[in-house]
Amino acid sequence: MSTLLEVKNLKKHFPLKSSKLFSTEKPILKAVDGVSFSVKAGETLGLVGESGCGKSTTGRSILKLQEPTEGEIFFKGENITTYRGEQLRKLRREMQMIFQDPYASLNPRKTIEKIITEPMRIFNIPKAERNKKLDDLLDVVGLSAYHKNRYPHEFSGGQRQRIGIARSLALEPELVICDEPVSALDVSIQAQVINLMESLQDRFNLTYIFIAHDLSVVHHISDRVAVMYLGKLVEIADVDDLYRSPKHPYTQALLSAVPEANPHKEKERIILTGDLPSPANPPSGCKFHTRCPYAEAICLTEEPILKNVSPEGQMAACHFVKEVVEQTTV
Ligand code: SF4
Repeated sequence: MSTLLEVKNLKKHFPLKSSKLFSTEKPILKAVDGVSFSVKAGETLGLVGESGCGKSTTGRSILKLQEPTEGEIFFKGENITTYRGEQLRKLRREMQMIFQDPYASLNPRKTIEKIITEPMRIFNIPKAERNKKLDDLLDVVGLSAYHKNRYPHEFSGGQRQRIGIARSLALEPELVICDEPVSALDVSIQAQVINLMESLQDRFNLTYIFIAHDLSVVHHISDRVAVMYLGKLVEIADVDDLYRSPKHPYTQALLSAVPEANPHKEKERIILTGDLPSPANPPSGCKFHTRCPYAEAICLTEEPILKNVSPEGQMAACHFVKEVVEQTTV
């Protein structure tokens, strides 16, 4: 599989107003702070972490819905970081987003037909082609032509997310960034929408970045998983390697909270103490040290780098996970 997307040292910082009177220091919220990863064509990269860790900001920065503060984004080998105007408009055809909240993301005053065909109208796709595509899209997401003159409030949450998915596919994108697409849905409906997304991926050869905090859902749909903490990537690995043998203490804690399917299997729960620190005032050294059960003196002063920690290419950022150096044959 070829690399579709490459993100290098991506940063998204937001300047904040100072809370101190007469202070000249301008606080900065480092929502994303130096994230690098790549995604291959046709794969699903799960992006996980607690709320506020920078997952959604990473997704929005890749799509350039928010301008990155620093770093580079390559799509199909092209550096798109500085794309503006017409270049950016054309790029929107190839990269789309599915939003978390199917209630808020659809305009309540527009019919389903208008909502789904809107991206095609923006790109001046002829009416006959739009109408044909609309019927096809309704069909592939499990709705029918009978629904097209109705309004969003007439649909259930799962149906509205199907409408959101149909709209995101209207321009035949290659990359879809799915921002918590099932977290607002009932568990039984979640499974149906996930199955639909998988079948659409096969049918249209889609590449997904799947942002979520539910690790069971991510396990099911992802090929690889990246774990974020306070704007940084702390671990990235193939899904089975990560779930079988998480290396970073934060990943271990997250996975220990996932319910075990086998009720006879004992699982040790790692309870994280304290809240997620503010990204506006992150801890020094390893950002996880205030909650890490294994923190030592070095963790307070030195930031660990993301390094190779298994022969399978698993990467983690922790001082106490041994680096594996690849053997080169002469
Ligand atoms: Fe924990 Fe230290 Fe490793 Fe950070 S570097 S995860 S604080 S042991």
